[in-house]
Amino acid sequence: MEPRYDHTKYEADIYRKWEKSGAFSPQVTGHQPPFTIIMPPPNANDPLHIGHARFIAIEDILIRYHRMKGEPTLWLPGSDHAGIETQFVFEKKLREKGKSRFDYDRDALYKMIWDYVQENTGTMESQLKKIGASCDWTRFKYTLDPEIIEIVYKTFKKLYDDGLVYRGERIVNFCPRCGTAYSQLEVDYVERDDNFYYLDYGTVTIATTRPETIFADVAVAVNPKDKRYEKLIGKTAKIPLINREVPVIEDNLVNISVGTGALKITPAHDPTDFEIGQTHKLPVISVIDEKGRMTGTPEKYVGMKAEEARAEVVKDLEAAGKIKKIDVIHHTVGTCYKDHGLIEPMVSKQWYINVEPLTKKALKAIKSKEVRFAVKRYEKIAINWLKNLKDWNISRQIVWGIRIPAWRCGKCLEWTITDGEIPQECASCHNGILKQDDDTFDTWFSSGQWPFITLQTGKSGDFEKFYPTSIMETAYDILPFWVIRMIMLGLYVTGKVPFEAVVIHGLVRDREGQKISKSKGNVINPIEMAEKYGADSLRMGLIWGGLIENDITLDEQKINGQRKFANKIWNVARFVLTNKSTNKQISKSTNKFTNEDDKWIIEELKQTTKKVTKDLDKYRLNEAAAEIYDFIWHRFADVYIEKVKDRREDAQPTLEKVLIDSLKLLHPLMPFVTEQIWNEMGNKGLLISSSWPK
Ligand SMILES: [Zn+2]
Ligand SMILES: [Zn+2]
Repeated sequence: MEPRYDHTKYEADIYRKWEKSGAFSPQVTGHQPPFTIIMPPPNANDPLHIGHARFIAIEDILIRYHRMKGEPTLWLPGSDHAGIETQFVFEKKLREKGKSRFDYDRDALYKMIWDYVQENTGTMESQLKKIGASCDWTRFKYTLDPEIIEIVYKTFKKLYDDGLVYRGERIVNFCPRCGTAYSQLEVDYVERDDNFYYLDYGTVTIATTRPETIFADVAVAVNPKDKRYEKLIGKTAKIPLINREVPVIEDNLVNISVGTGALKITPAHDPTDFEIGQTHKLPVISVIDEKGRMTGTPEKYVGMKAEEARAEVVKDLEAAGKIKKIDVIHHTVGTCYKDHGLIEPMVSKQWYINVEPLTKKALKAIKSKEVRFAVKRYEKIAINWLKNLKDWNISRQIVWGIRIPAWRCGKCLEWTITDGEIPQECASCHNGILKQDDDTFDTWFSSGQWPFITLQTGKSGDFEKFYPTSIMETAYDILPFWVIRMIMLGLYVTGKVPFEAVVIHGLVRDREGQKISKSKGNVINPIEMAEKYGADSLRMGLIWGGLIENDITLDEQKINGQRKFANKIWNVARFVLTNKSTNKQISKSTNKFTNEDDKWIIEELKQTTKKVTKDLDKYRLNEAAAEIYDFIWHRFADVYIEKVKDRREDAQPTLEKVLIDSLKLLHPLMPFVTEQIWNEMGNKGLLISSSWPK
């Protein structure tokens, strides 16, 4: 053995050996139930960040452990086209060249983004290999694979046929900069101060932060309990500047204590107003278009951005003497989670899923423990999201994604839905001229089907063998976006839950506990770290010192500390192997360990094996790591090896037995160095395929 463990000499070679041996593919023999994890697919065009590295380490540890226990083990990898994220990055690149997406037609833009993603494809895969991910590359899936899209279409058609998809005029969270509607979950609500204008509506004074929308008012509403306005109900108020009369109505949703207690009702530009408008069957008038510009207002404001128009309208109101006073209000506004600009509530035609029948079943599955959450608090969060989920808007106004298989008739304006094929005629009037909806599915609609889609389109029999999967291991920030959608859609399409357990991991933070971000300059590049200190050290650093469900702190020192541990094991192995036993009977039984020291270390090994096994079963990876670390370094090396230096020959069988089991226990955590030592020992076969110590 070399005097020092130099990871750069071995890692790539070892990975190739593992892959070539077929160890990554499950061997389905006998009656052992399989162990399956579907990998949350990283973005196809992005290099891995430290957060990815953490989940790769966690999942790979579990996968290697179960594989060694003899279970047919499948870890299915994939990559995600990441609709809005990718198009967002691509559009930024276009802007750098002085172009925008509006310079290209739909097909050209799609092709350009496709090519852009292709250029970067392969980076993520080679990085996963670098970290030691023992996933089954022969079953790799991409979210835009044709066979994946086919099933996404079938699901949509099934939902439509079951009456769970509808198209309606709805108020959506529209971002004029991104040019798309976002779901409720993608809106970041922030608190801020805004001017609160008290406007003269003739019979009543109305306070508003958005005077530019007065042209879209269709009513004034007051609370029926509000004595101040009793006499006004059924009368009219007059919109300033345009003098249009609107009815005064009563509705319980009006908050008596905000402003004057009288609310202008603008259904097209406010979610509450939209709801009140629906109740009272009021018309919807839009004065802001999808680019965030004024439309259908008095001529002078048309084409202005909403904020510009606000200033102008305020000026005109002031000149007309229609502003009674101006306050400042501290309130909450919706902002775009991508560009942090204001979200414009807007009325638009979108595809929706009626989620109630789906959430009901999902809630039942969670409550009956068909899906178990490893950590109780995440179960509570999931239940809360499911209980409050509004109908799901699945239309996105972007091209990078799966185009919705809906065609509109040019004659009767009805929609024809198919499971992918282009319809020859309108399903309602048989007219032959149809136009496909330009919108694409929300990415979560397709990735919400990921566990069953990947297995249904995999090797023959995969779905039957591996579904429901064992564990869904993912980050807590996508619990509401992804995990609950997978439970809903998995149950709906297959009748079964998509996974039996949900394991949620926390964030990686820097040494000071700060979130890692480019703007803070505290980014830790996992690949650089793996190259510098070895993949094993990086993996240990990523799980060391905290339960997986909690955030952990990471810095270079911590990773370097684990490199020292890799060297320690290397040195232990060198000591053991310098005087290799000729006795082939080692490790058959513990009965022959008669020396007190031998008995002691064998007992310690037994306890360690028990503890590590239990910790891995309970997803307490940091505790498993600490236990095996302490055993190898402080009990095996510091105590036992020191003691047996003067009875080397006699202790050799014990030394080898303890080394072999230590390598096995450590393998899931530090696969490379353990595999290399295993190889140096002259063992037949690979450690990755060896059996877990009993
Ligand atoms: Zn935006
Ligand atoms: Zn028609």
